[in-house]
Amino acid sequence: MVNKLKKLPQAFKDILKVASKQASSLGFKIYLVGGVTRDLILGKATFDLDIVVEGDATVLAAKLAQRRGLNFRRHHAFGTAAVYVGEHKIDFATARSEYYPHWGSLPKVAPAQLKEDLFRRDFTINAMAIGLNKADYGKLIDFYGGVADLKKGLIRVLHKESFLEDPTRILRAVRFKQRFSFKIDRDTDKLMRQALKLEALTFLHPHRLSDELILILKEEETYLYIKRLYELTQLSFLKKKMKMDEKDFALLRRIDKAVSFYKRKFKKGKRCESWLIYLGGMVIRLSLEEILNFFRRFGLKKVDIIRVLSMKENLHKIKRLNKKLLPHSIYQLLQPLSIESILFFYAYYPQKKIRDNIEYYLRELAHIRLKVKGEDLKKIDLKPYDLYSRLLQRLLYAKIDKGLKTKRQEIKEAKAIYRRLVRRQPRLL
Ligand code: ATP
Repeated sequence: MVNKLKKLPQAFKDILKVASKQASSLGFKIYLVGGVTRDLILGKATFDLDIVVEGDATVLAAKLAQRRGLNFRRHHAFGTAAVYVGEHKIDFATARSEYYPHWGSLPKVAPAQLKEDLFRRDFTINAMAIGLNKADYGKLIDFYGGVADLKKGLIRVLHKESFLEDPTRILRAVRFKQRFSFKIDRDTDKLMRQALKLEALTFLHPHRLSDELILILKEEETYLYIKRLYELTQLSFLKKKMKMDEKDFALLRRIDKAVSFYKRKFKKGKRCESWLIYLGGMVIRLSLEEILNFFRRFGLKKVDIIRVLSMKENLHKIKRLNKKLLPHSIYQLLQPLSIESILFFYAYYPQKKIRDNIEYYLRELAHIRLKVKGEDLKKIDLKPYDLYSRLLQRLLYAKIDKGLKTKRQEIKEAKAIYRRLVRRQPRLL
């Protein structure tokens, strides 16, 4: 039997050995489970680990963290804990079975053995484990035919009620199917369509829906995922009679390109939450009121709603970039916007002039800040102080247009602007 843990980074292997010994001394059994097992079998690099414990997961995780000097967080309510290894984490959960009081609700849980814990999972390919105990270290445990389905490229649920109990699995099926270019097993597909007919996705709490949808929007080549999801559901769980056509999909594809352009060319640029740009692409043709309704169902956070709404609100203003402009005018238009909105417009408008102006802004202007502060103006005795905000703004625009580099150049320019301001309006003095 090949040791399935071979592909893990050495640091993880060392930690798992320690965890294994500690579990044994506590009389617990532990297993690596879920997506990590799947990815190890597929030969993919994987860095966040999920461990199931037959025993108290929080006790084991605390002991391990203490022994290795690692950060540790416990979630009492769920009986789970996480141990942090650099940027990565190892999640520990007590093996449990689940029971759903209503379809779409959160499940009631009870401690259980590994086999039941794996049975509550979404698909066979995510329901395998690797033993981490002396007797089964590195050995694959596959009760439900996960390996066979991985080989055949099939997404298959473990039981008939699966999609009704937890309709987020419909979204997960689309995600894994697209990510691995798998097929959905025939019976599973039937069950999924039955659940959709019963409008199962509308049973879900908006936050559970958004968590799972955001995962879709964070996949590579996102537009394909949205297209698949639309083909399957028409997104009717977010908006009745939602209409998307080739024009929308073309925009989503251009967003894919805009996001990779930004990642490629602006490696040190602002962090971009690209999933918000796709969301903008999905709703841009709706009215403001429709967008707000859409987001009520989606369960999006207020800050994120504001970011998407700003795409709609600034859509027409951005057309002004379709001509030659002074650098400060480009700055004035784009600086108040989030990087997500800017990239949205880059994708939305095919006009070369608009795109060139946006690229120029990102490359040359976005980082420009004044070196001079109000304090510096006080030192050179420019009065009155309530002139400063206007003065500083003009100074910033002059810096942008004239390419001023040093603080001395800025002070000189500030004096010139000041003289012009008071000459034009002497009563300011
Ligand atoms: P990814 O590679 O995208 O991280 P993953 O399979 O690791 O995918 P997670 O959302 O991290 O997915 O979940 C970890 C594991 O928990 C899954 O592999 C699956 O076994 C289980 N799981 C997650 N969500 C569900 C669900 N809705 N229903 C049943 N089991 C689930």
